[in-house]
Amino acid sequence: MIKETELVCPPEAHEDEAALKAIASSVIKVAASRIHTIKILKRSIDARGRKVVYRMQVKIYIDEPAPAEDFTVSYPPVKDKKPVIIVGAGPAGIFAALQCILSGFKPVIIERGKDVKQRRRDLANINKQGLVNPDSNYCFGEGGAGTYSDGKLYTRSTKRGDVNQVLNLFVAHGASPDILVDARPHIGTNKLPHIITAMRETILNAGGEIRFDTKVTALKVQFGKIQGVQTATHETILADAVILATGHSARDVFEMLHRQNILIEAKPFALGVRIEHPQEIIDKAQYHCDSRGPYLPPSYYSLVEQVDNRGIFSFCMCPGGIIAPCSTEPGEIVVNGWSPSKRNNPFANSGTVVQVNLEDVAGNDKDPFKLLKFQQAVEQTAFTAGGGSLVAPGQRMVDFVEGKISADIPKNSYLPGVASISLKEVLPLWIHQRLQKALPAFGRKMKGYYTNEAVLVGVESRTSSPVKVPRDKETLQHPQVSGLYPCGEGAGYAGGIISAAIDGMNCALAAIKTLS
Ligand SMILES: Cc1cc2nc3c(=O)[nH]c(=O)nc-3n(C[C@H](O)[C@H](O)[C@H](O)COP(=O)(O)OP(=O)(O)OC[C@H]3O[C@@H](n4cnc5c(N)ncnc54)[C@H](O)[C@@H]3O)c2cc1C
Repeated sequence: MIKETELVCPPEAHEDEAALKAIASSVIKVAASRIHTIKILKRSIDARGRKVVYRMQVKIYIDEPAPAEDFTVSYPPVKDKKPVIIVGAGPAGIFAALQCILSGFKPVIIERGKDVKQRRRDLANINKQGLVNPDSNYCFGEGGAGTYSDGKLYTRSTKRGDVNQVLNLFVAHGASPDILVDARPHIGTNKLPHIITAMRETILNAGGEIRFDTKVTALKVQFGKIQGVQTATHETILADAVILATGHSARDVFEMLHRQNILIEAKPFALGVRIEHPQEIIDKAQYHCDSRGPYLPPSYYSLVEQVDNRGIFSFCMCPGGIIAPCSTEPGEIVVNGWSPSKRNNPFANSGTVVQVNLEDVAGNDKDPFKLLKFQQAVEQTAFTAGGGSLVAPGQRMVDFVEGKISADIPKNSYLPGVASISLKEVLPLWIHQRLQKALPAFGRKMKGYYTNEAVLVGVESRTSSPVKVPRDKETLQHPQVSGLYPCGEGAGYAGGIISAAIDGMNCALAAIKTLS
């Protein structure tokens, strides 16, 4: 017999089988000894009341075991099948490749960066020496910007495709099945490289191709139809379909498209700072306690405020996380955040950004690079203000709001270092002033948030792409180039790992429909 119900339990019971059986027994009025298995379908933390509890939707198996779960997927051999070129091995590119194989086509992934293992050395160079390799960094390389991220896997884009299919593929490649039930699933930077490696093995074992250290520098187009791509070493690779999944930081790809008279457009994005608090401040505020204890995970927040008719919002919040230097070229500062699977660092960080629209920036709205140039200029100003070597400009929170230079900067997680500098020198005035108004307002919403123990680090500028590559809504092909599929975050169709993965699969399906 199987019963489905909700169980509510204190944090210390949520992973204790005997305690859960006792709670389930009292809810469904069946002796605990008859409960064979409790299968969790959905799990969330409810911190609305005075006591924090776990809420779980469960299936209770009485007098019978739960059926074993099998996440394995079989992939047909595709070595000799029709090729689909996929430019970029980020989540969009990798999931496009998996979908190609599942549909009987051969993916040929072309990636400018290195595999996950070799990429690590370049990340160490960034963190320790401030040296940025423009082809291998936090954004470029196997797994794309998603590899050394927090691996938060929640998305609002459930209408775009099957989120569960993406999560199941992560589990099939080594992610914990917990991601299938948690309300806010995440994987962690320490685990993502193994999962990406397993996905690479799936692609290669099925007969797909992956070329690392290979940069696409031109598209081969004839009579409005894609023929293939050309690489930096002047090699031509031919295919009737090209999925362009190069991410929001590949500025040279936007230049390439423009040079080849392939339409691109400026696109609104958001810009601001990364804010870091001691994690215990966030835990105290969210769990209404002095210490969260051993059974609750580090807490998160999500804040939004309208200031002078503009949305200011927290973004990509990383509990127990690290602020990372995510520049893709020397001479610019870009920050973002990640955390390990246990989220056991003492800091909590999140992007806190202001929406940037076309009319906010002087210049020609028809210039596709209008907002990209604005983004780049702010990043370069931040670099100069920090004094070079990727030292980031920073200010304590209350000092920032009160317009004072901080006497010192609190201990923080950003490895290249944070220098005390007025962020007024770095941020455009209209962004600076709105953030000044938003932060005390956030403090009124969340006790303890507005504090000089928090530090603002500049700049959080790669929130989404400042350029859009248009495509037809039905065929997903570029309106001027048949067979070219603009895909993922860089083209403007995704805003995170899951939505990029879904878009990759959708583009692969669209390409396959035309090629079949
Ligand atoms: C530090 C950090 C933390 C993040 N944390 C999260 C998170 O927790 N949750 C979440 O949902 N999202 C997170 N994100 C955002 C997420 O990583 C991106 O939304 C996602 O990776 C976008 O996927 P994509 O495949 O479209 O592009 P990308 O991941 O950017 O991949 C593009 C790939 O294309 C390659 N490429 C570019 N140009 C060329 C070329 N000319 N030739 C060949 N290859 C090329 C690049 O090297 C790169 O590997 C984070 C990002 C960063 C940087």
